[in-house]
Amino acid sequence: MSAKIDHIGIAVRSIDATLALYRDALGVDPGERVVVEHEKVEVAMLAAGGPRLELLEATSDDSVIAKFIEKRGEGLHHIAIRVPDLAAAVERVKAGGARLVKDEIQRGAEGYRYVFVHPASAGGVLLELIEDDSGAAGASSEMSRIDKTVGDTVGGTAGDTVGNSAGDTTGDNVT
Ligand code: ZN
Repeated sequence: MSAKIDHIGIAVRSIDATLALYRDALGVDPGERVVVEHEKVEVAMLAAGGPRLELLEATSDDSVIAKFIEKRGEGLHHIAIRVPDLAAAVERVKAGGARLVKDEIQRGAEGYRYVFVHPASAGGVLLELIEDDSGAAGASSEMSRIDKTVGDTVGGTAGDTVGNSAGDTTGDNVT
């Protein structure tokens, strides 16, 4: 297994307005819409055949997406790469000197785990790394395997950190 581009995140003022182009004019499957409370965004994952398009609309004025649009307008927000083992990828990224936006592994709209690599370390583009554990049929056995891998790799703290954002010990040794 190797890393591959999963989706491209686009910050928009209105998912509804944007769907007039992608769904109504171009016939792209609009997919599911989900609110991610801790990021204060509503997300629509458009299935466009290859990598998906993730439309991101702020649900609050203090959302990172609201701030992004205020500063730069609508546009490309991030690129997401799916990796087989996120914890191992994070270790390698850190070992290479790249900066993460947050050291803790978080849980995204579809339940997958993710981190963001800071644009300063990724060619000026925010880079999302997500774990290859969602969407596949029969994912449950795969999930438990990955849960174990994550626990082993970061000393058993990642499982605690995901979901409650407390007990952030995974990044202590690098900050
Ligand atoms: Zn994304």
